[in-house]
Amino acid sequence: MTQVADPRAAARRAAGPATAPLAAASPRVHHWIDGRPVAAASGRSGPVYDPASGRIAREVGFASVEEVDAAVAAARAAFPAWRAMSLSRRTEILFRIRNLVEAHRRELAALITAEHGKVVSDAQGEVARGLENIEFATGIAHLLKGDFSEQASTGVDVYQIRQPLGVVAGITPFNFPAMVPMWMFANAIACGNTFVLKPSEKDPSASLYIAELLREAGLPDGVFNVVQGDRVAVDRILEHPDIEAVSFVGSTPIARYVYEHATAAGKRCQALGGAKNHMIVLPDADLEMAADAAISAGYGSAGERCMAIATVVAVGDVADRLVEAIEARLPKVKIGPGGDPSSEMGPLVTRQHRDRVASYLDSAAAQGARVVADGRSHPLYREEGFFLGVSLIDAVTPEMDCYRDEIFGPVLTVVRVPAYADAVKLVNDNPYGNGTAIFTRDGGAARQFQFEVKAGMVGVNVPIPVPVAYYSFGGWKASLFGDSHMYGPEGIQFYTRAKVVTSRWPDPRTSEIDLGFPRTR
Ligand code: NAD
Repeated sequence: MTQVADPRAAARRAAGPATAPLAAASPRVHHWIDGRPVAAASGRSGPVYDPASGRIAREVGFASVEEVDAAVAAARAAFPAWRAMSLSRRTEILFRIRNLVEAHRRELAALITAEHGKVVSDAQGEVARGLENIEFATGIAHLLKGDFSEQASTGVDVYQIRQPLGVVAGITPFNFPAMVPMWMFANAIACGNTFVLKPSEKDPSASLYIAELLREAGLPDGVFNVVQGDRVAVDRILEHPDIEAVSFVGSTPIARYVYEHATAAGKRCQALGGAKNHMIVLPDADLEMAADAAISAGYGSAGERCMAIATVVAVGDVADRLVEAIEARLPKVKIGPGGDPSSEMGPLVTRQHRDRVASYLDSAAAQGARVVADGRSHPLYREEGFFLGVSLIDAVTPEMDCYRDEIFGPVLTVVRVPAYADAVKLVNDNPYGNGTAIFTRDGGAARQFQFEVKAGMVGVNVPIPVPVAYYSFGGWKASLFGDSHMYGPEGIQFYTRAKVVTSRWPDPRTSEIDLGFPRTR
C-alpha cells in the first residue's frame, strides 16, 4: 500500500526547529493528544515542585477517564496508517527523532533537573542513555526481519512475520522522566504501534517536550500521546478495551497491581518494580575502587535510581577498611541545587519522600545499627529545598527496616558477613532481584557469582550494570512482573506478535485431493 505523507508534518519540518519548549513555558502542564497540547479539563490537579527551592513550580492536570479515552481514540485512529507506513519511512522519522533529541538534549536535561532535582550532568546522562534506545530502534528494518523456510513440504513455504499489537501504553516513574519513556516508546512505535504515555505526576514536563520533538520530527499525529495523571488515568489504561499492552516501571506494590489488573483484562504486560541492590566486596577487592564505586552508585542521583547500590556487603576482614574508606570520601560529595554545575548530588524529589528516607536513620539506630553519617546534619537539610546529606549506616542486619525496605535515597547500608557464601545467600534470599555487583580480583569467584546469583543484571567490578540498549533491562523476583524484560531484543518481542504463514501457489504437479490431516511430503 502506498503511504501518503502527512502534509502537516512536512509543513512543520519546513518551518524549522522548535523554539522554546512549550512545556517549560507553561505554568500548567497539559496532556498531548493527537499531535497537540490539550489542557486538562477534569478539575483535578497536583503540584510540581522545584526540589531545590521547595517551591511549587507549576501545576499538572490529572486526566479523567474521558481524557484517557480521547488519547486512546487518537492512538487508535493513527494506528492503521502508521503500521502500514513502510519500514524505510518509519526509519527516516526515527533518525530525525534521534537527531532532534540529541540537538535538544540540554533543554531536555534542564527540564529534568528543574522538576526531579538531579544534577545537570546526571540528567544529561539520562538523556544519553535514553537516546541509545532510539538509536537501537533506528535499526527496526533489521530487527523485524522474519524467518523463511523454503519447501517445508513439497511446493509449500512457511514463514514467520512479526506484526505490531495496536495501541500500547506506558506508565513511568519519577526517577527517569525522559529515559524510561524512551525505553518504551522507541521500540513500540518503531514496530508500528501507537503509544499512550502516562508519566509520573511529580515531573511531567519532560514528556511534553519529547512529544514536541517527535511532532517536529514528522511523527504523524496520534502516534504518540501523553496523558498526565494519577491512579484514575492508570486504572483507565488498565481496563481500556482498545489498549493491547502495558509497560510499567515503578515501585513493586504498584507494579504488582498493574500486572494483575492488566493481565486480568487480557493485556500483555511487563511491570518492572523496585529494588534493593547489593554490592559484595570480597577481601581481595581493590579497596579504593570499591569505595569509589559505593559512593558513586549509592549517592548518585541522591540514591533515587532503581540500580543504585543500597547495601554494601563486606565479606570477612575487608569490612573495617572498607567502611573507613567510604566514610573518608563522604565529605567530598558536593551537595547543592541540580542546576549548579559544581553540585554532584541534588535534592530529593519531594519533602514527603525526603522525610521518609530520613526516618530510616532513626529506625536503624533504634534497631541497633551504627549510624556513621547522618545526612540531617548537612546545612541544606534545614533549608526550604528537599535536601538530605549523604548517610551511612554500618552493622546492619537483615531484620532491620533499613535493610528490608527500599529506601530510595542517599542512605547506604553496610552488612558484614563472614564469607562469600553468606553474601550470596543474602542476595538470593532478598525478595528483590534487580541488579547486583561483586568487587574482586578473583575471576573464579566472579564467575561463580554470575552463575549462582538470583538477579537480572550483574556487575563484575561495575556497580550499576544497566545493560546497553541492544541487550534488555529487567530484574528477577519482585523486581519484575511478567515474562519480558524491557527494551532491546525483548522489547521488540514484547511490542509485536508472531504470525506464521504456510503458503502454496497453484502448481498442477502438486495439486491433489487429500482428506487426511496435513503432513509434510
Ligand atoms: P510509583 O510506583 O509511585 O509510581 C510509578 C507510576 O505509577 C507513576 O506513573 C504513578 O503515577 C503511578 N502510580 C502511583 N501510585 C499509583 C496507584 N496507587 N495506582 C496506580 N498508579 C499509581 O514509583 P515512583 O515513586 O514514581 O518511582 C520510584 C520507584 O520506581 C522505585 O521503587 C524504583 O525502584 C522503581 N523503579 C524501577 C525501575 C526498574 O527498572 N525496575 C526503574 C526506575 C524506577
